[in-house]
Amino acid sequence: MRIACVGGGPAGLYFTILMKLYDQRHDITLFERNAAGHTYGWGVVFWDDLLETLQGSDAESGRIIRDSARRWSSQVVDVQGTRFETGEHCGYSIGRQRLLDILTERARNLGVRLEFEQEVKAPSELPECDLIVACDGVNSQLREADADQFGTSVHVGRNKYIWLGTDKVFDSFIFAFARTDPGWIWCHAYGVDANSSTFIVECPSEVWSGLGFGSMSADDTLAALEEIFRPQLSGHRLFGKFRDGQAAPWLNFRTFTSQNWNAGKLVLMGDAAHTTHFTIGSGTKLAIEDAVALANKLQERREIQDALQAYARERQTALQPLQADARLSAQWFEDVSRYLELPPEQFSTLLLKRRSPLLHNLSPRLYLRLLHATEESAVLQKLWKYTGPGARSLYSRRKSGLGRGLAALRRTRPAGRSSARQGLDDLAVLQLLGPNLPGLDVAGQHASYQGEVALMRPAVAGAREAAKPRRGCDPHHLPGRVNQASGLAARC
Ligand SMILES: Cc1cc2nc3c(=O)[nH]c(=O)nc-3n(C[C@H](O)[C@H](O)[C@H](O)COP(=O)(O)OP(=O)(O)OC[C@H]3O[C@@H](n4cnc5c(N)ncnc54)[C@H](O)[C@@H]3O)c2cc1C
Repeated sequence: MRIACVGGGPAGLYFTILMKLYDQRHDITLFERNAAGHTYGWGVVFWDDLLETLQGSDAESGRIIRDSARRWSSQVVDVQGTRFETGEHCGYSIGRQRLLDILTERARNLGVRLEFEQEVKAPSELPECDLIVACDGVNSQLREADADQFGTSVHVGRNKYIWLGTDKVFDSFIFAFARTDPGWIWCHAYGVDANSSTFIVECPSEVWSGLGFGSMSADDTLAALEEIFRPQLSGHRLFGKFRDGQAAPWLNFRTFTSQNWNAGKLVLMGDAAHTTHFTIGSGTKLAIEDAVALANKLQERREIQDALQAYARERQTALQPLQADARLSAQWFEDVSRYLELPPEQFSTLLLKRRSPLLHNLSPRLYLRLLHATEESAVLQKLWKYTGPGARSLYSRRKSGLGRGLAALRRTRPAGRSSARQGLDDLAVLQLLGPNLPGLDVAGQHASYQGEVALMRPAVAGAREAAKPRRGCDPHHLPGRVNQASGLAARC
């Protein structure tokens, strides 16, 4: 098979490796716009599951990646100097450049033709081939050239972030929150190798503007951030320039989803097909899993179109829970002021629970009470166990399949109140939890919460009305969501 891959990130490189391992006769060319050894970004984190995938797919590169990775074995939450450490969290990290160097060498040794400094803007620029793999990242030009075919949509995050490095080597994964005059700003940092760490800084847009980053030079930006995070950096420097001399930009994270992953012989893979917010550290893993799935399907199926469709189906299904996690995690950081008024210990607990849909739908204090109550009640433990994945999957379905009906819901949002979407969730949660709070002193909370829900009811009714059958709306899931949640309670 003649294959053209556009983009030499983890997805593209790994796919070419696997295709060559399956069949040396495949004629594969990979086009990468950057020079060899020049990527963007710093280190990325991952967990055992990715190592297993790598070892199982190509033991040789898997072993080198494992040996090059740095292991971190605790997570620290630092709020204005008050630190909480948990040993429950551990994982790995590796420099993006190191990862790509390993994969590049492996691909080259297996006979993949690697064309660096070759930007491809449209399929028509490629040589004749049987399959075009668009793995050209989040800003995929191949996807954008045919955006309607792919049904791509994008959600732009509210926070600003910048992906930096530092010569301070962190032993743990650290989240550090600093208070400045315009508001809170925080970093996500972890050691990558013996000399450096990744240091991602994030803040609400208004804090970013208030601190003057919009009009600040790259050097001044680094100096200002070094000052803000002086206690964590302890005199070490921040780095904001990549190997090609480009300065890291401040960005708003964009979550892309595509309904279709292939059009004719062109197929999307990795960030070109979907992105997941960096606060769950999974984009590289998902890109590599895409590569494994696509290579497997092409190996298993006789017809390319058949293989491409089977690949898309498998990966779209597999992605849903992580996409839901990523949205919840991103939302938690966007709503961080909701939690920062809590004592630091409680704040850290909620940071670690940020993927819970319940947390986003209950007052943080009620959530904490429930959390503590579950430690003492077997019934609630069971309930918690069910609502976690159950509610996440509802959340995921709502965000993907129910898009149009929910757009109608959002249009009914009353000014200054929670969204109708939250109203529905809250009703579901109350139906779920209402009779199941034995031994839990939530009377006050519950009463005020019911007050809130009473206020929401008109919005919810309006939302249901708005979602009744008409052009472009699919209302069927709406009552179902509530019933399904109640069904969870019934199962407990
Ligand atoms: C701040 C931040 C932190 C992150 N942290 C993590 C983490 O901790 N763990 C994790 O798993 N993931 C993380 N990610 C996500 C991860 O970086 C991506 O999901 C992953 O790199 C996707 O791989 P990819 O191969 O699809 O795309 P990319 O790695 O983006 O590779 C695409 C390649 O295509 C090339 N290219 C683009 N356009 C063209 C063109 N027209 N012609 C030729 N070449 C082109 C680019 O130069 C690039 O080399 C993070 C992302 C961000 C933004």
